[in-house]
Amino acid sequence: MPAPQIATDTIAAAATPPGRGGIGIVRLSGPQAASIAAQLVRLRHPLEHAHARLADVLDADGDEATRIDEALITLFRAPHSYTAEDLVEIATHGSPVVQDLLLRRALELGARLAEPGEFTQRAFLAGRLDLTQAEAVRDLIEAQTLTQARQAASQMGGALSRRVAPVKQSLVGLVALLEAGIDFAEDDVDVTPAQEIARRIAELTPSLAALEASFARGRIVHDGLTLAIVGRPNVGKSSLFNRLVERDRAIVTAKPGTTRDLVTERISIGGIPIELVDTAGLREGREEAEQLGIARSREALADAALVVVVLDATQPLNDEEHRLLAAVESRPAIVAINKSDLLESSSLELTDTNATSHESPPQDSSRLYASNVDGPRSESGSPSCAHDPALDTHLGGLTALRTSALTGEGIPALREKILVLATGGAAAEPGMLTNLRQHQAVITALGALDDAAKANLGGIPHEMILLDLYRALWALDSLTGQTTSDDILSLIFSTFCIGK
Ligand code: GDP
Repeated sequence: MPAPQIATDTIAAAATPPGRGGIGIVRLSGPQAASIAAQLVRLRHPLEHAHARLADVLDADGDEATRIDEALITLFRAPHSYTAEDLVEIATHGSPVVQDLLLRRALELGARLAEPGEFTQRAFLAGRLDLTQAEAVRDLIEAQTLTQARQAASQMGGALSRRVAPVKQSLVGLVALLEAGIDFAEDDVDVTPAQEIARRIAELTPSLAALEASFARGRIVHDGLTLAIVGRPNVGKSSLFNRLVERDRAIVTAKPGTTRDLVTERISIGGIPIELVDTAGLREGREEAEQLGIARSREALADAALVVVVLDATQPLNDEEHRLLAAVESRPAIVAINKSDLLESSSLELTDTNATSHESPPQDSSRLYASNVDGPRSESGSPSCAHDPALDTHLGGLTALRTSALTGEGIPALREKILVLATGGAAAEPGMLTNLRQHQAVITALGALDDAAKANLGGIPHEMILLDLYRALWALDSLTGQTTSDDILSLIFSTFCIGK
């Protein structure tokens, strides 16, 4: 652990969002926090650790000081505060004017305006939080779903650090063993045999590899992803979009359509924020409009991590749809065969061809058309039925399921498939990696361990193996912030809001 750094100056900032509100809080942290607070307001009782005190906020206009607000002041004495320094919170009515007045006065009395994230940075520098916990504070504030908040809270509680600690401890043990062998080579200390080193490295790798793999889900929980609903006009894209939004609307940040006529909405599926993109707009079905619609779908496709291709169960596949399916074949995509409610009443029957759709339960994995239906021919001239070889290729490997945006049939299954595709089936677990910085550190550690294992196998001197082991150790230390450079730290904390 680096030596705790104690700041000598006192910082101040509004801790509540700008604007009017029931309550507004100004925060001070540093050695002068209590004395500045005592001059900022007229206290009715002396400040005492972790006790809220009533006070008057005075407006010194000319000689006369009049009360402009009433405040509640709480002092937290070092080291029992968020920053581990003396910290004061002044809660007034949430008036920007009162907040401004307090802040300006605090600055006149010797405080300086806090940088974004500086309160948390001080907690980190004082050793009260490690870097993963500090990042979790930001993540909690920025959480858009309860699942994200829970993930952040668990990381804030040290879940990730606890997962790394035993690996680091074993690594330190191995380093110490090799160092001892080198330092006391002339004494009677035995040189650690290569098999022992190999065994110890092999013991370290699985838990680190599992940690690395946790990023698949952790990243999605943290960042969410974009899902494009594509298909030709009139197949029911917007209706499906609305169905998904209706049930799962979790984040009310509807954005107006962009210049590309894309409608986006944020929903939450299984606690994962998903930005749905519907290729809205032209759906008159005229040929020109249809082409444009497909072009837009392609644009939406380019940006999306997941794709739902919507087909109309009552219509034959046309050439564009064949191409669309071919284009998404190697991507995480689901085919929604929509308007399936119309099938029951039509002469078309569904044929279950589960063979190419391993994940789908039988009732979901139906193909468009029965073999006995001489369906309309596509523009390429091939019949658009289940036994059309082109159709087989295009749907092959993609999960297909029946939906009806009208009746709601298949919508829960669609939601479930979206979740499985989003997470790659990875289960939630405590201490997941959630950002690239963390992931990179674990990848570096794994790479260094691999190098050490190879060097050991090649009979390379222990001094050289140690270099690889130290690199792994350094990477794990950087994960928790123990060896993170000041530049990177500043960069991380600059992504926080002011007052946190
Ligand atoms: P988009 O152009 O692909 O976005 O298609 P829309 O969502 O606008 O739907 C086109 C038409 O199909 C509308 O009249 C919808 O009411 C209808 N529609 C959409 N989904 C279904 C469905 O599952 N069943 C039936 N019967 N009609 C649907």
